[in-house]
Amino acid sequence: MATATEKPAKKVARPKVQQTQCFIGGKWLDAASGKTFDTIHPATEEVIAKVAEGDKADIDLAVDAARAQFDGGEWSQMDARERGRLMYKLADLLEAEAEELAALETLDNGKPISDSRAADIPLVIECIRYYAGWADKIQGSTIPINGDFFCYTRREPVGVVGQIIPWNFPALMAAWKWGPALAAGCTIVMKPAEQTPLTCLRMAYLAQKAEIPDGVINVVPGYGPTAGAALVAHPGVDKIAFTGEGTTAKIIQRTALETMKRVTFELGGKSPNVVFADADLDAAINGAHFALYFNQGQCCCAGSRLFVQDKIHDEFVDRLQDMNKSRRVGDPFDPETEQGPQVDQAQFDKILQYVEYGKEDGAKLVNGGSRHGDKGYFIEPTLFTNVKDDMRIAKEEIFGPVLSVLKFSDVDEIAHRANATNFGLAAAVWTRDIGKAHRFANKLRAGTVWVNCYDVFDAAAPFGGFKESGLGRELGEAGLAAYTELKTVTVAMS
Ligand code: NAD
Repeated sequence: MATATEKPAKKVARPKVQQTQCFIGGKWLDAASGKTFDTIHPATEEVIAKVAEGDKADIDLAVDAARAQFDGGEWSQMDARERGRLMYKLADLLEAEAEELAALETLDNGKPISDSRAADIPLVIECIRYYAGWADKIQGSTIPINGDFFCYTRREPVGVVGQIIPWNFPALMAAWKWGPALAAGCTIVMKPAEQTPLTCLRMAYLAQKAEIPDGVINVVPGYGPTAGAALVAHPGVDKIAFTGEGTTAKIIQRTALETMKRVTFELGGKSPNVVFADADLDAAINGAHFALYFNQGQCCCAGSRLFVQDKIHDEFVDRLQDMNKSRRVGDPFDPETEQGPQVDQAQFDKILQYVEYGKEDGAKLVNGGSRHGDKGYFIEPTLFTNVKDDMRIAKEEIFGPVLSVLKFSDVDEIAHRANATNFGLAAAVWTRDIGKAHRFANKLRAGTVWVNCYDVFDAAAPFGGFKESGLGRELGEAGLAAYTELKTVTVAMS
């Protein structure tokens, strides 16, 4: 908060929208059908821009462009180190434009400018830079097989990759997918989410400015069942990388199998966040609040099942309640704002429906539960206590600012309860007992476990889900491996 002597931070100006067409083979094109769709600013519900609505015809063109680069174009001939250099250049251009990109993300998605500036865009830059460093370090090995043979492996790019991303971290999800694909030498056809196509299109513009050859990155905005489905079905695509809903992933998996495409999935979660009575309470309360309410609760890894040990439960809930009351919900372009609107009407309605389920199922609504204001998709920070494991709000992904607190007493019982879900994306544990923390981390069936912290992301650290939260990993070396094929070469020595 600004003090009396400080001037309040200035509201950020709305950015100009410049790219709204498909980006195919280095050209900006209207959709072949001529159709467009509206993208809106979720804080005011006004239309920001009309964006080309790509479908099968545009996907076909984009895959042709990507194939041409992969099957013998400039990209396929380029030295790996040169690929890395172009990626570093892209990272520099993203950095030079970080302020404008942050504002564009806030305009399209509604997230507070303070988050776009401090989290989304810096992580985008880091991700591209991290993978730029990998481009010339993707190596095979030599293998001592029997007989007079020389055997070695090569890690080769998987080919043309179709990448389909959601709306909750639009630029960052693009970076998580472009980074390893470019480093490995793949070419890309990306379909951004229909709610938030703008930053991805701007990033494509910057990729061209960075002299990444035309056709290496192609972006086709449009809807899932049309453009997305056409990308998944296209026989010229070698791999699909998808982030979104589990039900969508299952549809994609079935189609992808027809042509044996490789798939990686990053899906939803219902992540347990477990606070033991011996935790540093200040840190745990701040951490639990951040774990759920960050990004309006629209995080796949949100700490949406907060298990608090009975001895500290009441104090914990009181303090969470106070934090919710003082949370600044409002105009995302105001740098003081902590919580913006949900992304669209559908998410807004779904979340309020879950609030009703919570009440019906007997949970106690402590805070919030209603619309905030009368314009835009704002929802009050919402807190439920007395939540039981079998309630819908404790089992299903809400993807909004609704936190469920569950009480526990027995240390032995809690790992079992934490794991009693079909999801397995993330989990966290708060305790001062380091032995307990490690034992607990080992027991949790989740792709990421945070100890005394939450939502710590780094391009070098793999991320992805156990169980129905996904298939494969993104980020780190594991994320890179998902964009390569392993080839074994055996040479007779005599
Ligand atoms: P969604 O599955 O509806 O949409 C995601 C993307 O898939 C969009 O681009 C959409 O157009 C496309 N799509 C939809 N139907 C398709 C089809 N039949 N074929 C091909 N593409 C199709 O999900 P959403 O509601 O936009 O995103 C929110 C979900 O994503 C949440 O469940 C969240 O947990 C999950 N998510 C997971 C992660 C992660 O890293 N694990 C990250 C962000 C979001």
